[in-house]
Amino acid sequence: MTAEESLNILKEGNRKFYTSSVPTGDISPDRRHFTADRGQQPNAILITCCDARILPEAIFSTGIGDLLSFRIPGNVLTPYLLSSVKFAARQFGAPLVILMGHTHCDTLKAALTGHMEGFLASVNEELKKAAGPEKDLEKVCRLNVRRDVQLLREIFRQTPELAKTKIVGAIYNIDTGEVRWI
Ligand SMILES: [Zn+2]
Repeated sequence: MTAEESLNILKEGNRKFYTSSVPTGDISPDRRHFTADRGQQPNAILITCCDARILPEAIFSTGIGDLLSFRIPGNVLTPYLLSSVKFAARQFGAPLVILMGHTHCDTLKAALTGHMEGFLASVNEELKKAAGPEKDLEKVCRLNVRRDVQLLREIFRQTPELAKTKIVGAIYNIDTGEVRWI
C-alpha cells in the first residue's frame, strides 16, 4: 500500500468515526487468528498522546494489525521513542507516520502552567523549542506537532530505507472526534 492510499483510508475511517457511533474496524476472531498466524503488516504508524480520551483504532476505524501506535504524554518525542519508531518503520515497512496532537491536552497545559519539575520540566523544555514564549494551549499543541514532523522528517531522510516514508501532522479534536490534518 502507498502512503497516499493509507492516508486516504485513515481519513475515510475518521469520517466514519465522527459521523457514526458504530465502530467499523475489523476486530473479529477471524482477524485475530489471521494476524496471529501471518503476523502484522500495519499500514501506518501513529505517535500520539496517552490521553484516555484518545482511542486510536476507534478514531480511524481500523482493526487488528492495521495501525501501530506509540503513545507518550503530550506526544513529545524522546530519543527512546524516536529509535523505537525508526525500528518499527524498518521492521514493518509502514509507508506513513502520523504525529497527532489533540485539543485540551492536560500534559501540555500542566507543562505550560504547572510546577516545572521532573517530567513536566522536560516537556516544558521541548515545548519551548517548538513554540518559544507562546502560551496559548492550542497554538502550542499545533507548533509542537509541526516541530515533531520536521524532526522526524530529518531523521528519516538520513536513513536510506526510510527516506520515502510520508510523515504528516494532525490534531485530534477530543470533542467532535474529527482529525484535522496539518
Ligand atoms: Zn495530551
